[in-house]
Amino acid sequence: MSLIPSNYANEFCDIYNSLDSTRNQWESRLLMKLDLIMFIWAKLVKNASSLYVCLQCFKYSIDPSQMEIHRSSCDKSVPGQSVYCKKNYKLFRVDGDQDKVMLFCQCLSLFAKMFLDEKTIYYDVDGFYFYVLGVFRQRATETSTEIIGFFSREKRSWDEYNLACILVFPQFQGRGYGQLLIDFSYEISRLRNKIESPESPLSAQGLNTYQKYWKSKIAQLVVNGCETGTAPEKWSINAMSQILHIRPEDVESALLSMNLNIQKSLITNTEVYRVSKARLKEYIPKKTQHVLDRKCLEHLKEMTY
Ligand SMILES: [Zn+2]
Repeated sequence: MSLIPSNYANEFCDIYNSLDSTRNQWESRLLMKLDLIMFIWAKLVKNASSLYVCLQCFKYSIDPSQMEIHRSSCDKSVPGQSVYCKKNYKLFRVDGDQDKVMLFCQCLSLFAKMFLDEKTIYYDVDGFYFYVLGVFRQRATETSTEIIGFFSREKRSWDEYNLACILVFPQFQGRGYGQLLIDFSYEISRLRNKIESPESPLSAQGLNTYQKYWKSKIAQLVVNGCETGTAPEKWSINAMSQILHIRPEDVESALLSMNLNIQKSLITNTEVYRVSKARLKEYIPKKTQHVLDRKCLEHLKEMTY
């Protein structure tokens, strides 16, 4: 990926060479266009032996003492509005269009790019909401919110995408937070009464994560309906899609990946998936450590998406 538009390269080089390592100048540079930040970032990563990143606000420096100074004065709170709170977990909605938080969104995007090889970075964060999941920590006299991961959502997606980019930071992966963030993205679809999907194409890892999510939701829907006697014996893909707010193509893709027994009716020319309840239960997560609790949603309903 080319980080520097060729017509701006010389100008960027001049600014880069004039960069002072003092904090004020450093931060004023950061407020420039993200194209420039990307350029500086790339130069820093390439030339520096270490890059120091604040995990509260994602500002960065190659100078550890500068980062130390920053850490002592960092606000350590996530900007934006809390839209979900359960125990010490919180989800914040951060509007990339607001001056005070634009830098946070840009730095978060840059840092995320380090873990998302196949994803294009979003230069213009103002068209997105960032949903940031954090855990509240209390250490001695200091309180802070440690950021676990986030997903971004385009404010106006003409393709009905409910998620543009998702990341759980490496130290938190494998604990169900990715499934929780995906669940939030579909909860927003439900509140908007839309049937939506993540932005495509998905990476191989992204597709795996989504397949796991779709399969667990389908399995829970059918098994719960069966056990409570409230579900039909036969489900159509469209009916599942309407209830789960998952696109019919994604429902079908998940069903196909379950390797179910498919029977074709010669009379109606339709295909029927046959599956036992026991088999479906295999797709329901055993550990439901992090489950979206609708009772804990704050303000999400009345917000405009
Ligand atoms: Zn900071």
